[in-house]
Amino acid sequence: MAAKRPIYMDNASTTRCDPRVVEAMLPYFTEKYGNSSSRNHAFGWEAEDAVEHAREQAAALIGANPKEIVWTSGATEGNNLAIKGAARMYAKGPDGTTGRGHVITAAHEHKAVLDPCKRLQREGFDVTFLDPPADGVITAKAVEAAMRPDTILVSIMWANNEIGTINEVPEIGRLCHDREVILHTDATQWVGKMPTDVERDHVDLLSWSGHKIYGPKGVGALYVRRRKPRVRLEALLDGGGHERGMRSGTLDVTGIVGFGKACELCKTGMDGEGARLLALRRRLEVELAKRLDVVKVNGHAERRLPHLANISFGFVEGESLMMGIKNIACSSGSACTSASLEPSYVLKSLGVGDDLAHSSLRLSLGRWSTDAEVTEAIDSIVKAVNHLRAMSPLYDLHREGIDLSTIQWQAH
Ligand SMILES: *Cc1c(COP(=O)(O)O)cnc(C)c1O
Repeated sequence: MAAKRPIYMDNASTTRCDPRVVEAMLPYFTEKYGNSSSRNHAFGWEAEDAVEHAREQAAALIGANPKEIVWTSGATEGNNLAIKGAARMYAKGPDGTTGRGHVITAAHEHKAVLDPCKRLQREGFDVTFLDPPADGVITAKAVEAAMRPDTILVSIMWANNEIGTINEVPEIGRLCHDREVILHTDATQWVGKMPTDVERDHVDLLSWSGHKIYGPKGVGALYVRRRKPRVRLEALLDGGGHERGMRSGTLDVTGIVGFGKACELCKTGMDGEGARLLALRRRLEVELAKRLDVVKVNGHAERRLPHLANISFGFVEGESLMMGIKNIACSSGSACTSASLEPSYVLKSLGVGDDLAHSSLRLSLGRWSTDAEVTEAIDSIVKAVNHLRAMSPLYDLHREGIDLSTIQWQAH
């Protein structure tokens, strides 16, 4: 007999593909298999029509023109193309003519932003990695303070993938447009969940990904502004000149059809889904805090995505906690490196201590999360935390009111 599958609370890692998305994709595997670049026959035209329809669906989700959408393999590629492509195209020095230029990002961005920025550093660009405040929110003020005459690009994510905090992207956009600096945002966790309008919010480049919005894996889109200002990118791939020269390679027509459908479903269902998930997440946080002490919700209290909670539990060891909640599929505040468990660099950047970072859980709800699942998750977490604390001498001392920071620990 198959074991019962755990409750899925890891929607920030990936989402289940919506069956309506799969249904839309199916004909493009077997019957409508044309290459969208084939201009001489009906197979090609049919594929091209499908790709262009998906482009309209993707553009509509973010308030863009379909001509401003470039298909990618996901947000990692979109971020690389935006950051390296824009920096290399607009490279300039402090005198505005020679040299490389200055890029601003933040220390708690996704690796798919941090690593392209580090690549630019090795190429001679100057990169500022802003330290987030304890609440995790990057403000326009913080970006403004880091601006220099040779700043060419700002890359600030719309919402953080580990803690769900929402940065001041519209305000940063206005600032960038005033200074004629390009703004890229990794909006992978934001788009499809929250209303987005690249015109109103002054965004120049925006990446997102199919598999975080109930679409297929391996397909994404990059928005590239065409007017006020027209943004140009140096391509990463040389080849057939697809996607107006910005991304060569035969298009994944099937994946793109699924991506488009996923965008359409997000747009029509967004309001109801967001409200439902926010209520579930609030119940999760409120009940855990009511039934357990020394619980800390990480990140800003209000400026957060509706469906994502990152919670630290004092006086429990992270790995033991994960072992105790095997019926919940979620992420922890530990990242596996080659030999050891490292505390999350995102939580560390907010000043969360190593112990509380290790003992944190990221619980991310999604389209199929239910009330009953949230109840079961709360009960399991409370049981596991209480069980571990019952064996913890430190927790006993804490309960007796002893301030652990005053204890002189015996050296071994
Ligand atoms: C998942 C994620 C990515 C990576 O997206 P892929 O499509 O898997 O390459 C990048 N940034 C953020 C914020 C993410 O959540």
